[in-house]
Amino acid sequence: MATLRQQALSMVQGRKRITATPPSHKISDYFGVNTFSTAQMKESLAPSVFKKVMEATNKGSKIDPSTAEEVASAIKTWALSKGVTHYTHWFQPLTGSTAEKHDSFFDALAGLEKFKGSALVQQEPDASSFPNGGIRSTFEARGYTAWDPTSPIFIFENTLCIPTIFVSYTGEALDYKTPLLRSIDAVNEAAVQICQMFDRNVRKVQPSLGVEQEYFVIDKALYSARPDLVMAGRTVYGHNPARGQQLDDHYFGSIPTRVKDFMVEFEIEALKLGIPVSTRHNEVAPGQFEVAPLFEEINKATDHNQLLMDVMEKVAEKHDLKVLLHEKPFAGLNGSGKHNNWSLITDTGVNLFQPSNSARENLQFLTFFVGTIKAVHDHADLLRASIASAGNDYRLGANEAPPAIISTFLGATLTDVLDELEKNGNIKIEKGDNMYMKLGISKIPEIILDNTDRNRTSPFAFTGNKFEFRAVGSQANVAGPMTALNVIVADTLKTMAADIEKELAKGKEKKIAIVDVLRKYIKESKKVRFEGDGYSEEWAAEAKKRGLSNLKSTPEALDVYKEKSVKELFERHGVMNEIELHARHEIMLENFIMKVQIESRVMGDLGLNHIIPTAILYQNKLIQNANGLKGLGLDNSAAVETIKEVSKHIESLKTNITAMTEARKKLNSEDDIVKKAKGYQSKVKEGYFEKIRYAVDKLELLVDDESWPLVKYREMLFIR
Ligand code: ADP
Ligand code: MG
Repeated sequence: MATLRQQALSMVQGRKRITATPPSHKISDYFGVNTFSTAQMKESLAPSVFKKVMEATNKGSKIDPSTAEEVASAIKTWALSKGVTHYTHWFQPLTGSTAEKHDSFFDALAGLEKFKGSALVQQEPDASSFPNGGIRSTFEARGYTAWDPTSPIFIFENTLCIPTIFVSYTGEALDYKTPLLRSIDAVNEAAVQICQMFDRNVRKVQPSLGVEQEYFVIDKALYSARPDLVMAGRTVYGHNPARGQQLDDHYFGSIPTRVKDFMVEFEIEALKLGIPVSTRHNEVAPGQFEVAPLFEEINKATDHNQLLMDVMEKVAEKHDLKVLLHEKPFAGLNGSGKHNNWSLITDTGVNLFQPSNSARENLQFLTFFVGTIKAVHDHADLLRASIASAGNDYRLGANEAPPAIISTFLGATLTDVLDELEKNGNIKIEKGDNMYMKLGISKIPEIILDNTDRNRTSPFAFTGNKFEFRAVGSQANVAGPMTALNVIVADTLKTMAADIEKELAKGKEKKIAIVDVLRKYIKESKKVRFEGDGYSEEWAAEAKKRGLSNLKSTPEALDVYKEKSVKELFERHGVMNEIELHARHEIMLENFIMKVQIESRVMGDLGLNHIIPTAILYQNKLIQNANGLKGLGLDNSAAVETIKEVSKHIESLKTNITAMTEARKKLNSEDDIVKKAKGYQSKVKEGYFEKIRYAVDKLELLVDDESWPLVKYREMLFIR
């Protein structure tokens, strides 16, 4: 009987192309047709109602019941006209995916379709089935979802989806979106305060975000024949193919046809949902790709990224493909991340991270620029914690991945500017001096988008007019890291404003007061700046000397949430209270434990049920062969050698899997969740994963190809 692997491989041979045709060759004809957009709203609502909704969207004010009633009615009409039968509140619980509970518009009692304003505004999913990190047990809280009018309502697979926040009845956030929205307010308040020193007209500052999403694609049949991919999202075993990514031929080559067809179709669906996808290309590893939309206001961009992942997974099904969003599906090849391109934009249309040729505007740019670097410096551990997950641990800090050290890359031009500012720290600036000239900040070129000056190894890089937080994991909800980034920048800008006020109180001229504070911040944050190769061993050593953290594992990184200063930081900006923070810490630890536990079990099951039996069968063949040779009086030493080697790996597998299972059992009775997570890291993962994998990957090379049960790397990765 053919193995599952062989069946899968023959299925792949018969795949046909599946091509989708866009509704029109002009994207503008169908962009956002599946969203209840501003234009749609304006068309279907009475002007006074429309105005109220816009106010709620722009100012975050509440929508009154009668307005909600009218909006709901318009939405229902629109949705029914598009063949939609159900609606759901769409929210982002801390499980990491999105959740929904579908209700029908059809009211059997009334015999017609109904959609009440109250159903638009609020829904009650059963909170007990979502992780709540103890909030529920402490407060007996039930949760409800509440409409977030700042993110557009959309239709996905015949269901009307209403973006919502998810909170407990005692008001604690049970999701990712609530703290993100609060952090947007915090950074707005702080940034406006600084902007006002330069331009009184600025009333609002919005963070914006563009997420470059990396992913792998493999054939669905091959995916299904890899229980580790199905259960854990990554291959726990698999020997590296002879040809990996060393030739860079995939990166520079054309996109494989089947994948291209898939991209075209998911892009069409994304565009209909108003997700402004614009870039597609191959990534470094074979089978790895990237999609990037144009940047948007951060809350929308976050929802869109969550939705895009869903769309990709759904569309991939149609193409008999599987999207792998895990950070490290394949050992020995590059992992996947989400590059979070982040900036701050004013309601007067100024990107605060855009250098300009006007010296005065450049001082404003430098204020935000230095403020952000200082924030990263002061709160590096919090940023690190915000991207911590079991999956991302394989991408950061592991032996074949970039280190988990948070540093910033600024590029040569801006490094010079900051160095000069620092160096000229003692230059006395008199009234009437051209300060900008004297300090060398009059000559920052307007455009610093020099591609030769790009450093791909930095976790937090300035790329011309935005910062790019690249250490975020590919399956993460970006709301986590973006909340952290917004909060730390808000906090630093607030302190900065206060520091500038102090200088002003001494009678200094405004721009001089600002420059003096900048110089101080530049000095204080210098050690977080690094322009070299972030992947090199020298950097890890250098960073250690500088006193920068290198928190390699999730449980270790998450410890920062226990610190008083971090609790106070989140509390000070009204983003999370102590209970919410504590709950998140617990949930992240729980998630980590579960992930490692699943991987460990999969390793054990595959090892015992698939690998060892196959290896023993092969070993028996070898024994027969050795005996046969001996019977003929021939030299059988090579066969005997192989038998010994196979036996050695089988032995090692058995012993280590048994010991790993024991280690798990012991840890499972540990009540302290921090200790349990750290135990899973050191005793289970570090204790056995590599040893077990080593034995299996060696056996893969020894056992005859025909009988090997697991689809091999070379078979999964080189999709056509
Ligand atoms: P890269 O060379 O890193 O791929 P791109 O210029 O293609 O850089 O941009 C990557 C992402 O950054 C895109 O999503 C883009 O829309 C986004 N982006 C560009 N400018 C900004 C900005 N000011 N704020 C946030 N994101 C931005
Ligand atoms: Mg980029």
